[in-house]
Amino acid sequence: MPENRSNMPLSMDNHLASSEGSQINHVIAVVSGKGGVGKSTVTALLAVELAKQGYKVGILDADLTGASIPYLFGLQGLLKVSEKGLLEPMKTAQLGIKVVSIALVMENPEMAVIWRGPLLSKAIQQFWTDVNWGELDYLLVDMPPGTSDVPLTVMQMLPLDGVVVVTSPQDMARSVVKKAYHMANQLQMPVLGLVENMSYVTCPHCGEQFSVFGQKPLSEAAQEFNVQVCAEIPLDPQLAELTDQGNIEQIAGTSSSSLKELVDALETLS
Ligand code: ADP
Repeated sequence: MPENRSNMPLSMDNHLASSEGSQINHVIAVVSGKGGVGKSTVTALLAVELAKQGYKVGILDADLTGASIPYLFGLQGLLKVSEKGLLEPMKTAQLGIKVVSIALVMENPEMAVIWRGPLLSKAIQQFWTDVNWGELDYLLVDMPPGTSDVPLTVMQMLPLDGVVVVTSPQDMARSVVKKAYHMANQLQMPVLGLVENMSYVTCPHCGEQFSVFGQKPLSEAAQEFNVQVCAEIPLDPQLAELTDQGNIEQIAGTSSSSLKELVDALETLS
């Protein structure tokens, strides 16, 4: 597998093949500058919206030290291994989204916190090469936060169509977008869209929308780097409740519909 190579020229030639029998049409990385901005929540929401459109969707949870995808969908237990020695993804209850995560592989996933970069990269590699993903229209990769060696190595290993960048208004949006833009550029792939999570709050009484964190710097960054803001997701108590309950598949309303433009953009990928 590729070693950490942040100081070496990056190339698109070294992509790993997925497991025999898997056919994955589009691979999209979801990235953020730091933890806690809602990257996993947005990955899960996007998977739900794509699956509702009838697409076959998978999520590779590459955020090994903050693996939360299984919890958002209420998935528990350990993945089964097929006769061929491949991991079988776990399917979500309603939409059948295929999920692979360290939290579904290890009894004690917290151990991954002490792993060094090469081991983290190796585990993520196996989530690509040693999983029976089957046929998928979209595989969403919930990336480790930041732009350190691990996300960079993952982006080099996988045949990505592009990246979706998640920020929140308290985030250093310009810096996050700039780093993601340069990383994607070096790897010759597009930034497919920017998502501002926790973008605003809607008053439950009068319906007025207001930005709790003041002005939003994301649109300026988007203009500067010529990428689209594809979604503004509200700070949504219903979403927080559903994620806490492991019921994110039941999301409806604005948090759900705000991803329409991004879904449309992903549908145009050739
Ligand atoms: P990250 O993957 O960036 O570390 P998470 O997706 O795990 O962040 O989200 C962190 C917390 O914020 C979770 O408890 C999640 O339920 C909550 N959260 C994320 N987005 C929203 C939102 N738009 N409205 C309400 N709660 C949210």
